[in-house]
Amino acid sequence: MASKRRLSFAQLLDRHAQVAVRVGVRPTPGQQVVMTVNQELLPLARLAAKHLYLAGASNVTTIIDDDELTLARYRHASDAAFDQASGWLFDGMAAAFKAGAARLAIIGDNPGMLAGQDRGRIGRAAAARAKAYKPAIECITSGMINWSISAGATQAWAKQAFPELSDRAALSKLWKAIFAASRADTEDPIAAWAEHNATLSARKAILNQSRFSALRFRGPGTDLTVGLADGHVWAGGESTSHSGAIFNANVPTEEVFTTPHCQRVDGYVTASRPLSLHGTIVDGIAVRFENGRIVEAKAEAGEETLHHLLSTDEGASRLGEVALVPHSSPISKSGLLFFNTLYDENAACHMAVGQSYAKCMDGGKTASKEELLARGANHSDVHVDWMIGSGAVDVDGICQNGDVVPVMRGCEWA
Ligand code: ZN
Ligand code: ZN
Repeated sequence: MASKRRLSFAQLLDRHAQVAVRVGVRPTPGQQVVMTVNQELLPLARLAAKHLYLAGASNVTTIIDDDELTLARYRHASDAAFDQASGWLFDGMAAAFKAGAARLAIIGDNPGMLAGQDRGRIGRAAAARAKAYKPAIECITSGMINWSISAGATQAWAKQAFPELSDRAALSKLWKAIFAASRADTEDPIAAWAEHNATLSARKAILNQSRFSALRFRGPGTDLTVGLADGHVWAGGESTSHSGAIFNANVPTEEVFTTPHCQRVDGYVTASRPLSLHGTIVDGIAVRFENGRIVEAKAEAGEETLHHLLSTDEGASRLGEVALVPHSSPISKSGLLFFNTLYDENAACHMAVGQSYAKCMDGGKTASKEELLARGANHSDVHVDWMIGSGAVDVDGICQNGDVVPVMRGCEWA
């Protein structure tokens, strides 16, 4: 038996960047790429740029963000400032995407960055940003371009995830978890991803054949029936853009997901993990749906932030995504709580309020917004996932003829 070669941090970082490029965004020859990155992760972004150019990208434009620069606004700007957003920048991104550019985001958000800031201002800034970002985000949700999100460990995020450890130990533990989730620590990460994508493809094929009219989630504090949109399609793993580029939108990814019917969700559901939203931690979420709409929403912490989110627009209190993730997924088995949706959503079944994905609807890439809405596909300026699955949750599929089929038991495939 061959023993696993011990890789240095530099080697692991390079492999992680390679996965972000060759599994994640996969630029086509000559394609431009818009990359965003947190300043603490510039070493990772530089490696990603190298791999983007090696893969044929013609021009990588990098936009850098920084927590202290974001906080400067909260500390020193006038109150009226919080209804403004960099629309010009997002318009430029939308123009780049329409001209064929790809998108790579390298994130490492501090989950508690805005703790202690005014809730109203956070909500207003988020709403202004969501509105300004809309033309660019629509290029992504409509499936126009190849795009991907990867993460790297930042100090504040690591301390939030592992408060009991020293700064140094926390950072190293988070990197280790990130390298494991991106399979950068395996013998051949690209081959490992090919195998993983094949498994996800097989799973979505079974669900697409089943043509369930609804899913029912049952567990502690949860009895929720999620009607599925007419002509919904299950997605997961690899996606294909309008121009035929194949990519993995998220690294890591363990989910298969589809479009709920935005008028046909009924019952109540309790979140199984906290959610980090705009730098605030929202914990102990419990909501009740009637005819697709959240009519009651409580949280043990961050309730005001949750209410702000749900009142963004008409679609923000309705579902745009439902996703199945086995309880035995590697991220769930790690036992870690990341306070980051990219990771935590891959540890448990989840749902998202807000915008739905066109690729999760039959003919969704060409259908009009009105037609998609009539078939149940939700529309909103926001898309926020939260986790509802755990080892104590069962999922049934309700067939067109009313038959009930076990889909998951204890959130494992039945
Ligand atoms: Zn999801
Ligand atoms: Zn989502």
